[in-house]
Amino acid sequence: MAIVEPRHARGGTLVLGGGFAGSYVARLLGKRGATIVSLENFMLYTPMLPEAASGTLEPRHVVVPLRMMCPHAELLLGRLEALDAEQHVATIQAGTETIAVHYDQAVLALGSYPRALPIPGLAEHGLGFKDLADAIYLRNHVLRQLEHAAAEKDRQRAEAHLTFVFIGAGYAGVEALAELSDLVRDALRYYPEFQRPRMRWVLVDAAPKILPEIPTRLGEYAARQLAGRGVEIRTSTTLTSVGPGAVALSGGVRIATHTLVWTAGVTPNPMLRALGLPVDERGAVRVDSMLRVEGRAGLWALGDCARVPNERTPSPDPPTSQHALRQARRLAKNLRGDPEPYRFRMLGQVATLGRYKGIALVFGVPLRGFIGWFVTRTYHLYQLPLFSRKLRVVTDWTVALLFRRDIAELGMLGHPRRLGGD
Ligand SMILES: Cc1cc2nc3c(=O)[nH]c(=O)nc-3n(C[C@H](O)[C@H](O)[C@H](O)COP(=O)(O)OP(=O)(O)OC[C@H]3O[C@@H](n4cnc5c(N)ncnc54)[C@H](O)[C@@H]3O)c2cc1C
Repeated sequence: MAIVEPRHARGGTLVLGGGFAGSYVARLLGKRGATIVSLENFMLYTPMLPEAASGTLEPRHVVVPLRMMCPHAELLLGRLEALDAEQHVATIQAGTETIAVHYDQAVLALGSYPRALPIPGLAEHGLGFKDLADAIYLRNHVLRQLEHAAAEKDRQRAEAHLTFVFIGAGYAGVEALAELSDLVRDALRYYPEFQRPRMRWVLVDAAPKILPEIPTRLGEYAARQLAGRGVEIRTSTTLTSVGPGAVALSGGVRIATHTLVWTAGVTPNPMLRALGLPVDERGAVRVDSMLRVEGRAGLWALGDCARVPNERTPSPDPPTSQHALRQARRLAKNLRGDPEPYRFRMLGQVATLGRYKGIALVFGVPLRGFIGWFVTRTYHLYQLPLFSRKLRVVTDWTVALLFRRDIAELGMLGHPRRLGGD
């Protein structure tokens, strides 16, 4: 391992993590410059991830290359390994090189991980839905289940391949289930093997209702929509174990399936504890109202990895991109020397429920059905950075209106056959 010359962050500001929060901070710092440390060279626009999984959107179109989004920032592709908050030095592993980067100001934007519980079989058999690799994998996995079911002679075994269980009925779980069930419904017309197939979608949550983040009326509408499409909603229910061909739920329920998707919330990046930073009981970095890490001069934090107090709300911000974006705006201003406490009142919430159905709460006005879907799409299109990205997404949506979905299963992508291999 080579240790290369220590260097100084561009503009003196080091942004650790190039996800939603970090990329916006670097973009908003503009010509002041910044150095972004990121594992990938793109920012993922997560609210569009369910549509990338269902194939409505091309996966490349829901990411924004950091070099295009932040033209004045330097990108250092690598992993933060250690942080000396006293000496203002971050240690970055970039390929085979270890680089010490000095900073004047550093911004922690290291995001979150899926909150996996120690449930037997979950780590081995459960599928996550957090990043682009998860979305592409899930799409291919679901399409492959259709092929397995088509090849299966035994009806019960075929139906197990057509059964999909989602644990966690927050935004990510509901949107992913709604989009993927649309994909499967569309795909089934190409499978003459299935004589009236019984596909089964099950949405499980420990809470007594789905989408607890939104007003009850909208949540109930979403539940009715999903139930109308045949989705089984099991609230006040927990997952107890997962096997290769079945899952067990509380109450002694056993469901034969090969697909268990875990969307039951997130936990702050566990690396934060290892960095020796002040964290709360969830492991989120404690910051003050200016977004400064408590007791660490020159260190700031935001997004899913931080516990951000909001002067406009009684409790700290929830881990959403909407909040990460507002925090990024405040943090960039604070770094530019215009310091003020962070305050933000949410203007609304939006979610899609598959094709032409959605829910939105805008300035307290609940919208649902087609108008909810339209508002959700318009909002995300507005928030997506770069005109060229917006245009690609609109083109994908237009194509999806005119043509049937693509159902090619491309699981082999990223695993090229070796030369000379069989
Ligand atoms: C499927 C899904 C759908 C969602 N839908 C919505 C929605 O509709 N509306 C909404 O408001 N929110 C939504 N969210 C939540 C939203 O995505 C997050 O709140 C937001 O991404 C938080 O931004 P962040 O920058 O804190 O974290 P992230 O965007 O996760 O970024 C963290 C970054 O840190 C990087 N990183 C981690 N460790 C290291 C390391 N050691 N060194 C260097 N880099 C590192 C990661 O690679 C990543 O790029 C959704 C989330 C998911 C998973």
